Parts: sequence; C-alpha cells; structure tokens
Amino acid sequence: KSKALLKLQEEIESSIVSYPRSMPIAIKRAKGSIIEDVDGNYFIDFFGGAGVLNVGHGNEYVLKYVKEQQSDLIHVLDFPTENKLNLIEKIIGHLPEEIQKDYKVSFGGPTGSDAVEAAIKLAKIKTGRDGVIAFTGGYHGMTSGALAVTSDTFFRNHITSLMPNVHFVPYNYPYRDKSTTKENKNNISGIEYFKNILNNGHSGIIKPAAILIEPIQGEGGNIVPEDGYLEELVRIAHENDVLVIFDEIQCGFFRTGSFLEFMNTKAIPDIITFSKGFGGIGFPISGLIYKKEIEAWGASAHIGTFRGNQVSIAAARGAFDFIDEYNIGDYTKYIGIYLMDNLKQLQLDNPFIGEVRGRGMMIGIEFVKNKSTKEPFPEFVKKLRTECFQRGLLFEVGGHYNNVLRLVPPLITTKKIVDNAIVIMKKAIAVCQE
Ligand code: PMP
Repeated sequence: KSKALLKLQEEIESSIVSYPRSMPIAIKRAKGSIIEDVDGNYFIDFFGGAGVLNVGHGNEYVLKYVKEQQSDLIHVLDFPTENKLNLIEKIIGHLPEEIQKDYKVSFGGPTGSDAVEAAIKLAKIKTGRDGVIAFTGGYHGMTSGALAVTSDTFFRNHITSLMPNVHFVPYNYPYRDKSTTKENKNNISGIEYFKNILNNGHSGIIKPAAILIEPIQGEGGNIVPEDGYLEELVRIAHENDVLVIFDEIQCGFFRTGSFLEFMNTKAIPDIITFSKGFGGIGFPISGLIYKKEIEAWGASAHIGTFRGNQVSIAAARGAFDFIDEYNIGDYTKYIGIYLMDNLKQLQLDNPFIGEVRGRGMMIGIEFVKNKSTKEPFPEFVKKLRTECFQRGLLFEVGGHYNNVLRLVPPLITTKKIVDNAIVIMKKAIAVCQE
C-alpha cells in the first residue's frame, strides 16, 4: 500500500517532496513516539515531525483542549479571546520570574519562517538599521527574509534577490573549532571575529539591526555552543546597541528540558522566535516573545490572516498544562541523559562516531572517517539512516557537512522505546560497517 501511495504522490505532487525520499512510507496513524504505516508496520519516531511532537503524537490531554475549542471558535484574526490571552499569560509565566514583566508576545503567521520574518522586521523598525548578522550552519526558514539568514547554499542557489546586508559569522562549534582556553573568555571560538566586525571601523560591515542565532543549532547538527559563548555575543551586541534575536523554534518548548534554551544560560535575548513544539501535537502556530522596551510596531504594521488560530492556541495551552502537570521538563532531562549515555556506549567501540552531543532530547551524533582528522563521513550516515529505517527507526540527518544523525524525539519517549531504538541502531551500524 505504501508503494502505491508513494507512486501516486510522485505522479501528482510536486517533485519538491523531500522526507519520503529517505523514509519511503505512507503514514496511517501515530501515537506517542510510534508511527504506523498504511501496511501495519510500526516505526520509532526519533524524527518527531522535524522536532515538533514534543508531547507526542495524538496526546490525549492536548486533544481534549482542541476538541473543546473547535466547537466554540476557530478563526478570529487578532481579536482578543480568553483562550489567547490565557496562552500569552502561560508563555510569560514560564519565563524566569525576574524578567516576566519585561516581555510581551506577538503571534505570527502559522510557520517558523513567519516568526523569523517578523523578528527581523521588528529589529529593523526599532533600530532604523538594515543589516543582520547570522551564523554559519544556521537554519531559519525558506521565505525570502528567513532564507537570507540561512547559510546553506544548497537552498540559496540561483536565488539572487534575497534580503541584502546579511553577514555570516562562524557559529561556535566545540567539536571542530580549534580550541580555546576556558579561563580566557576572549578566546571563546568565534567571539574575536564577531567582536571585530562590530567594533572595528574597518570591518566593511555597517552596524546591523540585529544578530540572529539559534542557541543550539538544529538543522546545523544539534550543536551546543561552549559555555559563555551566548553570553559574550549578547554582551558585545548590546555594547554596540545591536539587538539580539534567539531563534528558539527548534530548541525551545522544553526540548532541552527548560521552557526555552536561553534559560539554561545567562544570556538574555531581546527577541525570541517560537513555533514547532508550541503547537502541541502539530498545530501550526508561531510568534515572538520580545522586550516591551523595543516595541516598535504601530497598529497593523505587521499583519496576517492566520495569526492567532484558536485551535492551535488551545493546543499550545494543552501542551503547557500537560508538561506542567506531568513535569515533562525534568523527565526530558532524565530521558535525554539516558539516551545520551546509551549512545556514548555505542561510541566507545566505534571508529566512526566522532562526537555524541546535545541537551535534553536534542541529540546529535557526528560521524567521521577518522577520529583524529575528523573528516566528515556523510555517506555512512546516509546508509545508516536507510538501515535504521528498514528496521523501524526514523530520524533526520543534518549538520554543516551532512554527517550528523539528528535525534529530536517526542519528550515523552519511554526508556523501553529508547532501549529498542538503541538495539536497532547497533544492528544497523554493524551492517554499515561490514
Ligand atoms: N528556525 C529554526 C531553528 C528551524 O529549525 C526551522 C525549521 N526547521 C525554522 C526556523 C523554520 O520553520 P518553518 O519550517 O516552520 O518555516
């Protein structure tokens, strides 16, 4: 049945389709961390709908909120509803207490890209400046503004009319950067270059409106920067009167155990973008959390028909309440460590696993041809994905060199499912090494 549907898809849907090319199944239903295809095969979902299904597929708790809401009201533009204002209060209420009063929320269109567009626009309007500093390996979306700050040239090829005045600086990449001494903050990899760009009148770069960074890079390979890096970036940006946008679309909403990743650091951004996991079980929603002091929108300055879909908002409220009631933040930290420890065991006697890294349930496994030269091994990862898929485990591949196996499973994944995934991975790695 899967084969027939894939064939039909190829005939009648755009050739832009991507995921079914590496994971060729037609999906029938899903629950928790498990997907069932139309032929009755089960798959462990460590792909999580591209890091969306934090509370698990078909979460009953969230569905209850959704069902109640959909019979009352679905589409209402940006009129106030108790449902929406309650969600804003929840978002603000989950920020660190001492900064709650400083922030407000704005809903964007339905996708992460919409939120990124809005964040860039707000920074430009507020500062009256035009440029943005973005980071190598960063992914922010496919609309023109969001694509302009996304570094992968695969996506940018032949698109010559992107937003101008974007400058990319190297992301702090502990596994690959020539290292740094922790005692001297100025030595944090990438910081000197960044500082030079902002402080040096001869950098050739006109002062930007903002810097835009993922606190943990997702598509770039689940890279956690060194301690102190984000803090230094924020300090230098603020010293130069440049706004700081943290893109928390993938690493936010409890993916790393905390509500937002910046809360695991001492870095305080001016604008935070959110989407993906906020929609509970895959309802489209996105927006900004930003400092009141940078408010620069006039009424109607940035609009959109599908801002504030009431069902998506109800799903987000349900996801918050589920996470709070079952303490999913702490569970994420616990199960993330369990998964990471198991993967590190695999690394011990494997010549190709260069690094296992991550925070919470955002874990990257970087494959290299040789642990000393660290030459990327994308062919191995590609084969491994196929071998895992055939044995019932789904995940995404990413990274600066397409050599990172990216795990972003539902946060509610049980130990038993982790154990099964590890068994599959072990077998698949053995086959790839034959
Ligand atoms: N920012 C980040 C960090 C992302 O991971 C993504 C999606 N992978 C986006 C923005 C874009 O979101 P969307 O695909 O919903 O436009």
